[in-house]
Amino acid sequence: MPYIIGRMLSAERILERCESLAQHSELPGGLTRVFLSPQARAAGDKVLAWMREAGMQAKLDAIGNAVGRYEAARPGLPCLMLGSHLDTVRDAGKYDGMLGVIAAIECVGFLNSKNKRLPFAIEVIGFGDEEGVRFGTTLLGSRAVAGTFDMDVLEAKDPQGKTMADALREFGLDPQAIPRIARKRSDVLAYAELHIEQGPVLEAEGLPVGVVTAINGFSRLRVTLRGAAGHAGTVPMSLRRDALAGAAECALAVERVARSHPELVGTVGRFEARPGAINVIPGEATFTVDVRAPQDSLREHAVAQIRSEIENVSRNRQLASEIESLQHFGVTTCAPRLIERMERAVASQGFRVRRLPSGAGHDGMALGAITEICMLFVRCKGGISHSPLESITREDADAGAKVLLEFIQSYS
Ligand SMILES: [Zn+2]
Repeated sequence: MPYIIGRMLSAERILERCESLAQHSELPGGLTRVFLSPQARAAGDKVLAWMREAGMQAKLDAIGNAVGRYEAARPGLPCLMLGSHLDTVRDAGKYDGMLGVIAAIECVGFLNSKNKRLPFAIEVIGFGDEEGVRFGTTLLGSRAVAGTFDMDVLEAKDPQGKTMADALREFGLDPQAIPRIARKRSDVLAYAELHIEQGPVLEAEGLPVGVVTAINGFSRLRVTLRGAAGHAGTVPMSLRRDALAGAAECALAVERVARSHPELVGTVGRFEARPGAINVIPGEATFTVDVRAPQDSLREHAVAQIRSEIENVSRNRQLASEIESLQHFGVTTCAPRLIERMERAVASQGFRVRRLPSGAGHDGMALGAITEICMLFVRCKGGISHSPLESITREDADAGAKVLLEFIQSYS
């Protein structure tokens, strides 16, 4: 559907475009689109075309983010930055990330159709990597924009053994240009992101949207336990140093620590044993730990407890343990002035205001390094996300876009 002068926001167009992007997938019959893939190229090109149609200047930046800019009446002014991500997890839903990019483009298209320029520029960014599926490190696109991209990560390899630097070059991008896309604080007024809730709170309360107060921090560890491999039939139980049995005890310890506080969550999401044969005692086991909490002190305390539990288990079972700290991010608090402004936008559309924290990570965590951030959550069916069952209604897409537009127009 083309824009018509004076036309209203269209929830149909937003949902159509989510469907359209979902066609770019490496998974037949489902949706998987990872960083710097041919499918990411096709989706990015589509988004750039929509940005141009909405009156923006648009291009891919050095890390493959789709960036659109809608100037103020006077060009070159600082921008209000909007966006979300265009990559997905494996076998994903159609809305996680994409909804925020498409809704932001819809708002700019509305302003453009009315020939309306604001006292600030608007930039919409479709981040190329948020989920971290391909290289195991998240928020690559937004960290590049925030100037916190770690150039050492360019040597990280995907499961096929290709480095990120090579993948960027094959995509037609120059890895050495990444530092140049970092924004200065003075370039960005604030960052606002619309995203599906990915949880059940809004649905339970019968609300289409909610205003995010903070994005929970997380810590990720990779733990390797080493014992002794041996014959499953000949080594008596009393003489075994079974790394997998030790790792299992550690996984239960993670669960026990996480259950000790209602706001804490802890997950062992990957678990591998080597050599991995039915008749061999596992000599080595590796597992990951993901801990999240709305307060940094709570998370840090939990991580310390988990480390000491792992050391205890290893000592008792005579295993060698190695604990690598993979990634950690502190709590990102949404700015009170932006929360209040978003709340007024919610109320202006006739909805009850509900504040809620985000248990999932988002691009705003990275942008928080250079600017104040805020987020608007849109209800999703059953609280389900990271699944093909992810679903939102036309009415809720409409509500989210209207609130975002009101937020943008009232921003000054
Ligand atoms: Zn997301």
